[in-house]
Amino acid sequence: MNLHEYQAKQLLASYGIPVPEGGPAHSAEEARERAKALGGERWVVKAQVHAGGRGKAGGVKLVNSKDEAGTVAEALLGTRLVTRQTTAAGQPINTVLVEAAQDISRELYLSLLVDRAKARVAIIASAAGGMDIEEVAAKEPEKIVTVYINPAAGLQGYEIRRIGFALGLDGNQRKQLGKILQGFYKLFLEKDLSLLEINPMVVSGAGDLLCLDAKINIDDNALFRHTDLDALHDTSQENAKETQAKQWDLNYIALDGNIACMVNGAGLAMATMDLIKLHGGEPANFLDVGGTTNAEKVAEAFKIILSDEKVKAILVNIFGGIVRCDLIAEGIIKATKEIGVDRPVVVRLEGTNVERARELLDASGLELISAGSLTEAAEKVIGSIQ
Ligand code: ADP
Ligand code: MG
Repeated sequence: MNLHEYQAKQLLASYGIPVPEGGPAHSAEEARERAKALGGERWVVKAQVHAGGRGKAGGVKLVNSKDEAGTVAEALLGTRLVTRQTTAAGQPINTVLVEAAQDISRELYLSLLVDRAKARVAIIASAAGGMDIEEVAAKEPEKIVTVYINPAAGLQGYEIRRIGFALGLDGNQRKQLGKILQGFYKLFLEKDLSLLEINPMVVSGAGDLLCLDAKINIDDNALFRHTDLDALHDTSQENAKETQAKQWDLNYIALDGNIACMVNGAGLAMATMDLIKLHGGEPANFLDVGGTTNAEKVAEAFKIILSDEKVKAILVNIFGGIVRCDLIAEGIIKATKEIGVDRPVVVRLEGTNVERARELLDASGLELISAGSLTEAAEKVIGSIQ
């Protein structure tokens, strides 16, 4: 689950980490009031969307008066921001962050993430912050340092010094960095984060470190023990079909193609998508209906994939091991009875209760295309839309 920048900054502040003063606003009036309450003469109004690259896309604006803060907020709110990290439709702006404009002398990059291969939290730092870090990694990898934290020992002084020198910080700044990194690491572990990215971390005009941007991702599987963070979930920033799927405990990810897949098991779902691609098709989604599914859940899954207008055909590929094939058949019949199906459906069922499933589907009167092998299923579904 992603947090908005203003939520991430509140969380950072609660760990004693320096962030600019500011807060969210949902209207022009509120933005003006925020600017007034903050004081000063220059503010920044920032679109709150779950995507980076806002600066270059016009989602971060420097303003010189309280009225301008209101006008800029009004212009942003209710629109959608398209950045290089969003789809062409962009993300809706329902909130802006109004904060004090900072004097910046340097922009650095800092992040913490879980390195699965090393089974450790990695701290990644670069003096070349503020811009496209992926580009720095590709063209000038020597400008990036990575430190892997030993979980038994915790973050060590020598590791902090290594990062501090790599960032070109002076003694006082390295001291500040130590406190900040310890705070990051504590926050990362206590709140089960999978990503904490500060780009840019700035050196202010006065020479102090400050987090100017903040991106936080929390491990979804740990949210049950962070109900306060779970409450910050903003579904407006997510794909509506994915949100619907989550409510039914389905593993669904929307993709760009036109062949929908309904599969049990993540591995089989990946293999099915591979086969579709191998035969020249493009999957419209990843969908693992899971092992402990039931007819109702399958029906919901079917409705979700049918509600995607891009979808031209559906491939159902079920290997009944734990899940029973007849349950899947019942689900398909239930869904198609409720909403009808106007596109070709190729079904490949194997395993537990497959005969019963075939009987149910035959008796249903539905026009389904059955397939024996996986390859045949892929060929048939692609053939059905040509
Ligand atoms: P994004 O990464 O989505 O583009 P950032 O929060 O990093 O958004 O903002 C983009 C740029 O805007 C920053 O690199 C920084 O130069 C400038 N900026 C952001 N917040 C402030 C602020 N409070 N004061 C001054 N400049 C800012
Ligand atoms: Mg940024």
